[in-house]
Amino acid sequence: MENCIFCKIVKGELPAQKVYESEKVLAFKDINPKAPVHILVIPKKHYDSIIDINDDEMDIISHIHVAINKIAKDMGVDKTGFRIVNNCGEDACQEVKHVHYHILGGKKLRA
Ligand code: 5GP
Repeated sequence: MENCIFCKIVKGELPAQKVYESEKVLAFKDINPKAPVHILVIPKKHYDSIIDINDDEMDIISHIHVAINKIAKDMGVDKTGFRIVNNCGEDACQEVKHVHYHILGGKKLRA
């Protein structure tokens, strides 16, 4: 997608502090962190939101979770705990229209 900032990060056209990369997944630090650990995990392929992922491409979610487990260990929050958030669509206040999962941790999060 031409004007998608996360696609530009994937293509190297915008900078990002990358923490994980595989063939299908990229993860980088959130530009405006809401916790000591705040990582965004995205599929390299553009989907506006999880609703746009077809059944036959849903394996991307497994790849994202492989990344999340590895990142949680690398960031040292695997033992203390962390939150995974996906905002989908307008009512969830999804700001960037490219599927992404937030990993939030490094402090006690509000319930
Ligand atoms: P959403 O509300 O869509 O779930 O969250 C989008 C997230 O992307 C926000 O936490 C925001 O800080 C982050 N973000 C927006 N633009 C950029 C950017 O250019 N680089 C990085 N690293 N994060 C961004």
